[in-house]
Amino acid sequence: MAAAENAPPQLRADTQTFLNSTPKQLLIGGEWQPALSGQTFATLNPATGQPLAEVALAGEADVERAVAAARTAFESGPWPALSGAERGELLWKLAGLLEQHADELAELETLDNGKPLRTSRLGDLPTAIKHFRYYAGWASKLEGATVPVSVPNQFVYTVREPMGVAGLIIPWNFPLVMAAWKLAPALACGNTVILKPAEETPLSALRLGELTLEAGFPPGVVNILTGPGVPTGAALSAHPGVDKVAFTGSTEVGRKIMAAAAGSNLKRISLELGGKSPNVIFADADLEKSIKGATWAVFSTSGQECVAGSRLFVEKPVFQAVVDGLAAQAARIRVGPGFAPKVHIGPIVSEKQLQTVLGHIERGRQAGATVVSGGERLGGDLAGGYFIPPTIFTHAGDSLPLLQEEIFGPVVAVTPFDDWDELVARANSTRYGLAAGAWTRDLSKAHRFAKVVKAGTVWINSYGVFDPAAPFGGYKESGFGREMGREALDLYTQTKTVWIGL
Ligand code: NAP
Ligand code: MG
Repeated sequence: MAAAENAPPQLRADTQTFLNSTPKQLLIGGEWQPALSGQTFATLNPATGQPLAEVALAGEADVERAVAAARTAFESGPWPALSGAERGELLWKLAGLLEQHADELAELETLDNGKPLRTSRLGDLPTAIKHFRYYAGWASKLEGATVPVSVPNQFVYTVREPMGVAGLIIPWNFPLVMAAWKLAPALACGNTVILKPAEETPLSALRLGELTLEAGFPPGVVNILTGPGVPTGAALSAHPGVDKVAFTGSTEVGRKIMAAAAGSNLKRISLELGGKSPNVIFADADLEKSIKGATWAVFSTSGQECVAGSRLFVEKPVFQAVVDGLAAQAARIRVGPGFAPKVHIGPIVSEKQLQTVLGHIERGRQAGATVVSGGERLGGDLAGGYFIPPTIFTHAGDSLPLLQEEIFGPVVAVTPFDDWDELVARANSTRYGLAAGAWTRDLSKAHRFAKVVKAGTVWINSYGVFDPAAPFGGYKESGFGREMGREALDLYTQTKTVWIGL
């Protein structure tokens, strides 16, 4: 990459204004406030390793304050008195504000997370906006049922009520989209929320917090606490005043959330966790399309996607053609800072995550797997950031960590298969079950694969497509609960059954 392309970006005036208003504070009860301890932390630009802003570090005492504010807003004041239609209007208004500030928010996302500006602006922003609009519609459609019981002289009906105070803990790979996946249904259902963005990427959530106030959400309905997993996230998940925690992140932290819920008030939890998703190319597939599809299934967002198609199974007759095609595609992917023109993928989010990914690559090599392309950190102009090129492995056994552990980087292992039973057993041979893909022209084979693969989402002749209307979540240790679609309403409501003696 030429030096000029790697120069610091010319930011928009509004982005610069937001960045300059440092240190960033916590949103509690409708007010921006410093952490009680006065502590802050720096959020870094992963393209350069340089600090972007100082952000308040919420401790247990701040969690306490936020829970109190969210409880008050849930029990009294304007929020519980609003109709579903009125909540829907607020969500719709928020979507409009996101649209109005989309260029600024896209810049913040690229600065903080590293992804290409084009991806932020044309991918993440519209996705988040669509999400708020979709759930704005649901807010006025939370119906119960009348229940025909056999007991005489009783009239029975159900109502859907909000859970109460919801803690929303999200990762750094899609900061604004992850916030939208949780905030939109939680608020549509009438909960009050405490959002904890990832330590690596707090900026877009903080700007979103400002926009919730501008949209007119009453004080305490949306609270935002920035800080690390411990203490901020841990205090939220252990707090007896939190009724529900919705979490997206690693399976390891998911276990801790579950334990914290069990050890406190049995709060409701929903977990969207890791994956090691199989993607299958059958010999009858459209090879050009499937090779491109398999490339982006794993390398988009530099592989930092829970659904990354990181295990690519290829039917033997086309194995070499696919490996060669994949390597040719990988060679064309431009890796660089998110603000450079024509970049396809950006850096890994942090030095720590970079080292984790490089560790996986090194262990794969030591175990005897072959690196077909990539495999080394990029230097030169990119040495200051956390860049890894698309990396392709072959000759890796299914039991290797390379094929069992989530890497969360641009790394794929390609292996051949001979027959159906072998394929199915191998595709299902990890502890995860988040997503799966298959490429074939044979319709019945496609349906048979969708039926036998143990995954919450199956893509046939496509990969990584999402829509707010389509439920998403994991099988096995990839978690439970479904976000998006009508099913997400179940995560944020509880059913009350009312018996009327006639
Ligand atoms: P992570 O360490 O699990 O963190 C996720 C969130 O949990 C962050 O906000 C983190 O805070 C917080 N956290 C960490 N320790 C905690 C604790 N003890 N109690 C409460 N909260 C805690 O995962 P990550 O490194 O950010 O993201 C990568 C992982 O997330 C991958 O495994 C990936 O598969 C998974 N992921 C899953 C999905 C999905 O939809 N299923 C989507 C995206 C990512 P800090 O980061 O601030 O410390
Ligand atoms: Mg950052």
